[in-house]
Amino acid sequence: EDANEHMVTIAERMATVKHKILVMSGKGGVGKSTFSAQLAFALAARNFKVGLLDIDICGPSIPKMLGLEGQTFHQGKFGWSPLYVGSNLAVMSFGFVISSDTPAIWKGPRKNGLIRQFIKDVYWGELDFLIVDNPPGTSDEQIEIVQGLGAANIDGAIIVTTPQQVSLIDVKKEVNFCKKVGVKVLGVVENMSGLSQPISNLKFIKITDNGERKDVTEWTLEYMREKAPEILNFIANSEVFDSSGGGAIKMCNEMKVPFLGKVPLDPQLCKAAEEGRSCFKDKHCAVSAPALQKIIDKL
Ligand code: ADP
Repeated sequence: EDANEHMVTIAERMATVKHKILVMSGKGGVGKSTFSAQLAFALAARNFKVGLLDIDICGPSIPKMLGLEGQTFHQGKFGWSPLYVGSNLAVMSFGFVISSDTPAIWKGPRKNGLIRQFIKDVYWGELDFLIVDNPPGTSDEQIEIVQGLGAANIDGAIIVTTPQQVSLIDVKKEVNFCKKVGVKVLGVVENMSGLSQPISNLKFIKITDNGERKDVTEWTLEYMREKAPEILNFIANSEVFDSSGGGAIKMCNEMKVPFLGKVPLDPQLCKAAEEGRSCFKDKHCAVSAPALQKIIDKL
């Protein structure tokens, strides 16, 4: 059977969507989906009508991060119906298709066909923002979404990275891709700031009375683990491990794209994402939520 009975063009479908934002990353696991999900929560909390489209075919994590895991989409009167969080946050993901019991819809067609269906056949209705969570890299999916929506109709891309050099090299590729296809880079978010060095790389040096430098790392870590795990946690979340290369800020200056800010490594954010919750409503996300809010306010 054909899910696409209503022959609507992409232009017609997107005519009711005011702003389109792509969230991209050079590498997987940098927190791109987490950022997309929290951005959607933040905008929805301000009463905007928000659509979140997850086009990661290999590892769709958006259903889980929105608390919609295991759900499937339905064929509605005007097209594929997205799933809703509250009344103004609409979500569509490959995850909903995969778990659907109507495999005929998605079996067979290649990735590009599926992505096109997502922007053509999903009935979003009136939206203030459509956030597209892309898979990592710059390949078929990214080209398809840019061509499908039309570069000129996209407000811009937000690129998420970690502070590590390797990840930053991949960010340059993302920036160049955006320049090449004519999509404005809204800015770069440095996520998991503080992850560049594991805590096991920490060194504590004690300067003795006669000026000697003594390595007391082992003792200090053991002591803190036992007596003050919160402090150890605090150190792990602070910027003492900031990458020596200057991280994303330096790269943004070089590439002449805006730097949007840093989001610290925060186990509570990870937990909120894991449980499909907004970090902005979570008093435990005291480290990450204000940082994310500051970034979102800049957009
Ligand atoms: P990507 O979409 O780039 O592949 P995800 O958003 O799925 O990455 O994030 C990978 C993992 O890291 C998830 O478990 C997520 O909850 C966690 N995570 C993301 N950002 C942070 C952060 N700032 N602090 C702690 N954990 C984070």
